[in-house]
Amino acid sequence: MSALFDPELATQAYIDSLGPEALAKAAAYTAGAHWLTLWELLVSALITLLIVRMGVLEKVSSKVPEHRHWLNALLTSVVFSFVYSLLNLPWEYVSEFLRETRYGRTSQPAGDWLQQAVLSIGTSVTFGSLFFSGLYWFIRRTGRGWWLWASGFTMAMAGLMLILSPTFIEPLFNDYTAVPKGEVRNALEAMADEAGIERERIFMYDGSRQSNNFTANVSGLGSAARIAISDVAIDRALLDEVKAVTGHEIGHYVLGHVWRMLFALSALALLSFFLIDRFFDCFARLFGSKARLSDPAGLPVFLFMLGLVFTLVQPVTNGVIRAGENAADQYSLETVNLPDALAGALVKTAEYRYPRPSPLQEMLFYSHPSVEKRVRRAMEWKQNHTKNQAENSNE
Ligand SMILES: [Zn+2]
Repeated sequence: MSALFDPELATQAYIDSLGPEALAKAAAYTAGAHWLTLWELLVSALITLLIVRMGVLEKVSSKVPEHRHWLNALLTSVVFSFVYSLLNLPWEYVSEFLRETRYGRTSQPAGDWLQQAVLSIGTSVTFGSLFFSGLYWFIRRTGRGWWLWASGFTMAMAGLMLILSPTFIEPLFNDYTAVPKGEVRNALEAMADEAGIERERIFMYDGSRQSNNFTANVSGLGSAARIAISDVAIDRALLDEVKAVTGHEIGHYVLGHVWRMLFALSALALLSFFLIDRFFDCFARLFGSKARLSDPAGLPVFLFMLGLVFTLVQPVTNGVIRAGENAADQYSLETVNLPDALAGALVKTAEYRYPRPSPLQEMLFYSHPSVEKRVRRAMEWKQNHTKNQAENSNE
């Protein structure tokens, strides 16, 4: 069998198994998502302009006694986060909810979506304003090198969020439960044991509430880390596919990818804060704000610049994430060794990530390597490893 096996033909057969209609839909959906990245910048610029021109934050500042710097930063941040989220809500409704519904990627009722959007605004106002008020403390207190201190602070806060998230934030949006007793659970427990992960750290969640995407993820840090598999994946996958996908997620966990993302985020914060330090006045003038960098009323401009840097360096961050995804696939192949099941599961994710992007499109916008590349690697693995198995079984 191995003499006749052609990895390239097998790869194309997997991708083609989606059918031309689903492939065309995936292409349109994915390209649309890339355009959204750029539209989002424009929307954010408009909202920033609106908030600056309305002078909302200056009004808040003027009500706080002058020497109460931290209180001023906190109140300004609360008002800003709230006003921004509200102004952004219609755009989110169109670009997320309506778009996902139109493509059949979600079956969530509008009411439930709105309720969760409000919940999400609540959490981001709470954590965002604590974070921003901390940032302004560093800007005021640490002088010229504030951007160094502030990036350390960002790393500490992001680490704290990662620790709190699985226990306090994610359960607000989804139910995390043990995988029901049966062969899937037995297989997952055996894999957890082998990787040295506590069995209690593997969950399933009702991902189908928000999305029809076939997905699983790792989140949290240290003892708060956990692996979660969407019920969509549990319902739609064969046992071997669940094993291959879980092998991939365990790979992220064992290889410490959450830590790597935390360091990457801090490096990105460092770069952004440095650039903000240099160019803040320039952008403030562009938006018509008189605020100086240390003035919390300049927060809209500060955040627009942060978003701009994050968008511009996205090809680099995507490259880092893609390398991690390859390593996790490799881990799954090495430990679970089910290349066909991995390929089968990957093809299900191609519904929302067009599997055959152009190299430029992949480089700029893809956070995961294209499904075509990932399936090809699985098939090459199969070619190189089933040969030995076949020989062994002949013995
Ligand atoms: Zn992954």
